[in-house]
Amino acid sequence: MKKLFFGALVLGFMSACTSDNISNQEDISQDPGNPSSTMASKRACPSDIIREKALKSDPALRARFEANELQSEKFSRDIMMGKVLADGTVEIPVVFNVIYNTSTQNISDARIAEQIAVLNADYGATNSDVANIPSAFQPAAAGDVKIRFKLVTTNRKQYTKTGWRSDLEEMKKSTTGGINATDPTKNLNIWVVNSILDENSQPGTLGYAYYPESAGLWYDGLVIGYQYIGKTGASAPFNLGRTVTHEVGHYLNLPHLWGSSNTGCQTDYSNDTPTSPGPNYGTPSYPLNRVCGGVSRSQMFMNYMDYVDDKAMFMFSANQKTRMQAVVAAAGPRAGLR
Ligand SMILES: [Zn+2]
Repeated sequence: MKKLFFGALVLGFMSACTSDNISNQEDISQDPGNPSSTMASKRACPSDIIREKALKSDPALRARFEANELQSEKFSRDIMMGKVLADGTVEIPVVFNVIYNTSTQNISDARIAEQIAVLNADYGATNSDVANIPSAFQPAAAGDVKIRFKLVTTNRKQYTKTGWRSDLEEMKKSTTGGINATDPTKNLNIWVVNSILDENSQPGTLGYAYYPESAGLWYDGLVIGYQYIGKTGASAPFNLGRTVTHEVGHYLNLPHLWGSSNTGCQTDYSNDTPTSPGPNYGTPSYPLNRVCGGVSRSQMFMNYMDYVDDKAMFMFSANQKTRMQAVVAAAGPRAGLR
């Protein structure tokens, strides 16, 4: 930090007048110019001398200067690390924690790479099936969400457990056979397990995630069954990596289209997704109308936040994009990912 800060000081003192940087001028304190004329004989800029004096005598001003330099340094460092790209896209660092019993469950690096590629396509709207969005919903399509994903590391651990209850979170603690999160304030942790069980120890859960109010807590992140990661060797009809796309949606504050409760017809806080009485399954055909409060609406079942098969979901809405952007914004609850 000290070394970096010295660099910031030098930069700071050099930058007040850019013209100084390209000409070889002497320090104006030794060259007052021609006092007999009001016309300067050569360019002089005392900004830095004035600043230096002020910073020496005013600790509050000095503190503001230091904070500005730290912020500037962080900004450039983040760009270098690819976290906030030059066009403002936020690149989220991802840590995979694979806990397996059999070798089949120990999914390959290639499959994890496939999953990252799916996320980047779906959140960048470069997925090929984006062309299937019905024309009625095209005006509401998010396009590029401006969020990307970058694999930081993959941790692996063999353990004899054959199923993991979602309410116990044992996969997230090394003391109970799992793997501790890698700094969840700075990384999206994805735990991959052999089977996710509900609180009654029943299988059938593909994955689950925590919303931004849990940002940075020890259990923050996603849990996904190994069968649903990536494409190659994944289990149809959930074999296009969209389980993770859906769960990352929750992680970035998107509820299901029918709202956060099972009663249905609740708000999902996005006005451009039609109100929905509950999940759709399989591969529905458009148009599909369903009723909430006596009003029949065409359903956006091809939204990633529905329950349809992987090949039937291929869009976020513009409002959903705004909500996700709010979460990763500099002042957002997941700003640490930047
Ligand atoms: Zn969900």
